[in-house]
Amino acid sequence: MKKTYHGSCHCGAVRFAADIDLASAGERSEPARPGIWWTSTFRCNCSSCLKTRFWKAFVPPEDFQLLSGADALTEYRFGEKMIGHVFCKHCGVHPFASADFEIMGGAFYAVNIVCLDDATEAELASAPIIYEDGRHNAWDKSPKVTSYL
Ligand SMILES: [Zn+2]
Repeated sequence: MKKTYHGSCHCGAVRFAADIDLASAGERSEPARPGIWWTSTFRCNCSSCLKTRFWKAFVPPEDFQLLSGADALTEYRFGEKMIGHVFCKHCGVHPFASADFEIMGGAFYAVNIVCLDDATEAELASAPIIYEDGRHNAWDKSPKVTSYL
């Protein structure tokens, strides 16, 4: 079921709230939009996600609220510069990213769910995960090895 979670960076300058569904298939709310992105969390082996250990859940803008710390966020864009990767300039944590992709139904946030302060250990442990082979630009395929992601 979709729940409102509260997240933050390490130092607490950046705080946000997001409505996220961490439940397994069969226990989930109606997806926000059509497409696989709204049915699971994702882990990826691309050069960015791998090094930041980014574990994302996609949410539409109406389900995301930055509560504080806009002035603490530094944006990093690379490659085709389509995704706004932000991190806290004080503590270096990457709490979320954002982009606007037509295939995904428009603008969205990708919340790094390990930054959710009120997600329980059990919720994180049982959240469904789809693995993406971003290293080979094969986002719709799982990498051969996923155990280290
Ligand atoms: Zn911080």
